[in-house]
Amino acid sequence: FLGGPPVLSEPLPPYRSMGREELEAVSEVIRSDRLSGFYGSWGDEFFGGPMVRGLEQAWSERFGVRHAISVNSGTSGLFAAMGAIGIGPGDEVIVPPFTMSATVVAPLIYGGIPVFVDIEPDTFCLDPSAVRQAVTPRTKAILAVNLFGHPAGLSELMSIAEEHGIKLVEDNAQGPLSMNGERYAGTVGHIGVFSLNYHKHIHTGEGGMCVTNDDDLARRLQLIRNHAENIVEPLDIEDLTNLVGFNYRMTELSAAVGIEQLKKIDEHVSRREEVARQLTEGVTELEGLTPPRVRAGCRHVYYVWAMRYDEDAVGVGRERFSEALAAEGFPHSCGYMRPLYLLPLFQRRIAIGKQGYPFDLASPRYDKGLCPVAERMYEKELICFEPCMYDPS
Ligand SMILES: *Cc1c(COP(=O)(O)O)cnc(C)c1O
Repeated sequence: FLGGPPVLSEPLPPYRSMGREELEAVSEVIRSDRLSGFYGSWGDEFFGGPMVRGLEQAWSERFGVRHAISVNSGTSGLFAAMGAIGIGPGDEVIVPPFTMSATVVAPLIYGGIPVFVDIEPDTFCLDPSAVRQAVTPRTKAILAVNLFGHPAGLSELMSIAEEHGIKLVEDNAQGPLSMNGERYAGTVGHIGVFSLNYHKHIHTGEGGMCVTNDDDLARRLQLIRNHAENIVEPLDIEDLTNLVGFNYRMTELSAAVGIEQLKKIDEHVSRREEVARQLTEGVTELEGLTPPRVRAGCRHVYYVWAMRYDEDAVGVGRERFSEALAAEGFPHSCGYMRPLYLLPLFQRRIAIGKQGYPFDLASPRYDKGLCPVAERMYEKELICFEPCMYDPS
């Protein structure tokens, strides 16, 4: 299979995400001359301008959730979420090792300690039974990732959180419109965080959205987004925990794009589902290739279509197989992410300052072998295709 003409003779055409609607919406904002509607002090403009509020309103309606709080990136959204739920020095936050680095950096910003728990071999999301065993009296939250667009075991993770009186935060950057039973992924936990960066299903260049049904958490997210420390007096807020604020505000330009993108979300998601359906159909009969599993009652929205490769069944190693795929013109990558505890920051335990804070407040394990399933997926099994980059139609 390293000979003959390639199956795909030309590169797949790049995917286009912006249309006339976005162009007109942005022009309108530029004509208005108000590129941001925020003020960092108390008053009506503390909550942003008309586009920001319009996007938040539309988002909360679309996802059936009480509050949507826009931010300037998914990363900011994760940081704000950790702040809002009150993470502090030495608090343990359970995270998966198989995700984008922002997920596991978020607790560190507040002195929290990421505790890595292994993933399930079929959904690549946190393994709820391993999470249950990892909860200690210092655990403050579970930060689950709906990886590749498939919901983590959210119902079970939520029961664990409720049993222990801790919070469940969903990193739903990759999962807009993904479903966990009757509920949208991102709306099951106490806070859900979406990303609107260029590579996500819908985007505003950079941007993000936090959602919650809890009025108090919503208010804290709004405060952290916009210089919290200036607002606590007019609002007469008693609990100052983590109410030192940032500037995580979204511009009117981004929000105007977001409003138009949200109208097109079904189209963007179904296009990916169609690509995934064809890929899955293509490998289903092949020995040694396992297409992504979709748990009963769930909807997978395929930020990444990831199959498992069994080198014993196929008879060649993954690297060799990958060369063959490349020779056929099929764009793909192997392994997704090196398990994050292997990053220098965890290996050397240097995050905030030079003295090893916050790792010195506990003794978390970050050694190789910690999460064998994630390591196996990275080293041997996963082959990924990212539908966001191409227009297969
Ligand atoms: C993209 C992504 C983020 C970060 O979102 P940004 O908007 O790029 O900051 C966080 N977590 C996951 C799982 C992501 O895929």
